[in-house]
Amino acid sequence: MGELHILFELQQIDLKLEKLQETLKKLPVFEEFKNLKEQASTAKEVLARAEGKLQVKLTAIRSLEGLLQEAVEEHKEVQARLYGDAEQSAKELEKLEQRAAALKIQQQKQEEELLMAMEGAEELTKAVAVAKSKFNDAHQKLREKQKSGNEEISRLKEEILHYKEQRQLLSMQVAKPLLEEYDAQRQKFLGRPLAEVDKDICQGCRVSVSSMVKAKLYHPDCKINCDNCGRILLPHDQ
Ligand SMILES: [Zn+2]
Repeated sequence: MGELHILFELQQIDLKLEKLQETLKKLPVFEEFKNLKEQASTAKEVLARAEGKLQVKLTAIRSLEGLLQEAVEEHKEVQARLYGDAEQSAKELEKLEQRAAALKIQQQKQEEELLMAMEGAEELTKAVAVAKSKFNDAHQKLREKQKSGNEEISRLKEEILHYKEQRQLLSMQVAKPLLEEYDAQRQKFLGRPLAEVDKDICQGCRVSVSSMVKAKLYHPDCKINCDNCGRILLPHDQ
């Protein structure tokens, strides 16, 4: 295979590499991963808030239970004194009765409060469970995406590596000045500084080549450029 044909093959590989690198850069998995990460982080915040509220409610319940216990104890004491054997004056008895009645009302009020707090805690427990399940879901999806995304990325990277190795092998078979000329012209010709001539037409610009170009094209020692677009020409592989 002539040097120009090797360089042409290298050009095809460069075009493939460019495409693969572009695909890798624009892989939707990056955007999807970002979205899932945000979802998981929001779910985590919601869960933390729900757990915080539940803790506050549980603390309130414990304190209410303590107060209620105290009221119950005091009521018992007052009752004991009211109906005990010790002598009490009428005034003292009246005071004790008033205290007992007040404690009874207080106890009822505290029982109601406690009941409401417990209902609240029940609701919050449910909310925590829902938030936890949502967080677990989001986290699971994130991990799955991480796994499948990594597989996709490494598959592309492997393909890129394979073509890079091929390019390396081909570039060693091309003279340095020609390779440098090719590299220098790549940008100008959008990655295609080499063009085949097929049926006397330059495949780079689709214009017929002159008879002088035609004559030189099949001469192995000649490097000829298209007189219309300036691309390096080589005969189309039959
Ligand atoms: Zn041309």
